[in-house]
Amino acid sequence: MSNQPSPQNNPLTIGILALQGAYEAHAKILSTLGIATKLLRTPDELMNLDGLIIPGGESTTMLKFLERNQFLDALTAFVQTTPTFGTCAGAILLAKDVQHPAQTSLAAMDITVERNAYGRQIDSTILTAPTKLRGGPLEMVFIRAPRITRTGARVEILATRDGSPVLVREGHLLAATFHPELSSDTRVHQLFLNLIRENH
Ligand code: GLN
Repeated sequence: MSNQPSPQNNPLTIGILALQGAYEAHAKILSTLGIATKLLRTPDELMNLDGLIIPGGESTTMLKFLERNQFLDALTAFVQTTPTFGTCAGAILLAKDVQHPAQTSLAAMDITVERNAYGRQIDSTILTAPTKLRGGPLEMVFIRAPRITRTGARVEILATRDGSPVLVREGHLLAATFHPELSSDTRVHQLFLNLIRENH
């Protein structure tokens, strides 16, 4: 599989896993930032991308699709080296350890997540919390969100909710337990673009 990143000043192309979930909203935000996106539905589309977004949705449903055509294996290899941003269900897929209940994952990021940790759908919430990002507090939309219950030594915590990390970075990987694509603030997507440019 070839996955050559674009040279420094070339425009970026970001793939968005589009098997299920909130992929369109990520495409919209990136287009407002002038970034080209490609919606991915098959493993052979995992090429010529500078980065990948795994959206929110239902991680068990995404896993069902990923179990076809060796997509899970291809994606597991891809996220080892290519900048990837997982939001909510995407963060669950990136985590090394998934609990409540346990399920398989791409095992890329050294975090433990507990699924649906804040209760049922009715407990979904929008709040504004301080972050390490420049520009002041950030609006965060939580929908049946997981809780990050453990972070490895190399994981940087960029925002927390009630003491639990909600935005974390480990090298070329970024994960949010909330949905930044559902707010008008583009700072989290910009953070991901900066991470990609650093990785080049
Ligand atoms: N509860 C979902 C899961 O376990 C994640 C919810 C979301 O992505 N908004 O996959």
